[in-house]
Amino acid sequence: MNYSLEPIGVVHSCFSEKFAIPRQPQLAPAATGTLELFAPYNQPEALAGLEQVSHLWLLFIFHAAESGPKHLRVRPPRLGGNQRIGVFASRATHRPNPLGQSVVKLESIVDGKLLLSGIDLLDGTPVLDIKPYVPYADSLPHARNDLAPAPPAPIAVTWSPLARTQAEQQGARLHSDLLSLIEQCLAQDPKPAYQQPAPTREYGARFWDLNVRWHYPNPDSIRVIDIQLANPLA
Ligand code: SAM
Repeated sequence: MNYSLEPIGVVHSCFSEKFAIPRQPQLAPAATGTLELFAPYNQPEALAGLEQVSHLWLLFIFHAAESGPKHLRVRPPRLGGNQRIGVFASRATHRPNPLGQSVVKLESIVDGKLLLSGIDLLDGTPVLDIKPYVPYADSLPHARNDLAPAPPAPIAVTWSPLARTQAEQQGARLHSDLLSLIEQCLAQDPKPAYQQPAPTREYGARFWDLNVRWHYPNPDSIRVIDIQLANPLA
């Protein structure tokens, strides 16, 4: 049996590439984006009542997940990338149907667009549905997940004086708390868990229209080197 699903909107996000996106929502509260709804869902009738809701479930498509054969077992980065578990025990993007779900904060609604924070979504993510978060049903204090018992411990993030100034200047241009965004995302340690980076090795990721470069002076901390305007994406 086949079902056909049509996106109801698309997310415009601070994350212009997959690397350095937190592995779950809420890990970077400063991660923001806008959900642009397609007609007719951008009309006030479809959104009436949402002003009474603080958080939303977004059901979306992992549109940039790697294609290729689907496997029954996956190696989640969270477990160091070397332990295999069943695909249904993981939140991996590479799964039978490329469906994702995230709880995000609804900051406001402006002209039929939803302003969101705490997102873990790549720019351009197609959204299939929105549902209000229902605390009494969706928050289960006694629920257990021994594969992911707690959020990953953050690592220290420090700044070169140049990078800090650039973050402040670019943040002002973008009207965004860029400093917190970068700190919160890099504190999740985006590099693969199995890598032991030499202090001279540089890493980079793109946030908004900016390339952010950093290195690991020691394995437990990150130092942001600089922030430059990126070339437009092809
Ligand atoms: N919270 C969602 C879930 O549980 O279904 C996503 C979890 S998934 C482990 C999070 C990762 O998905 C992010 O780190 C990012 O690299 C990746 N991602 C986010 N949006 C994506 C998209 N549209 N296509 C492919 N990968 C995406």
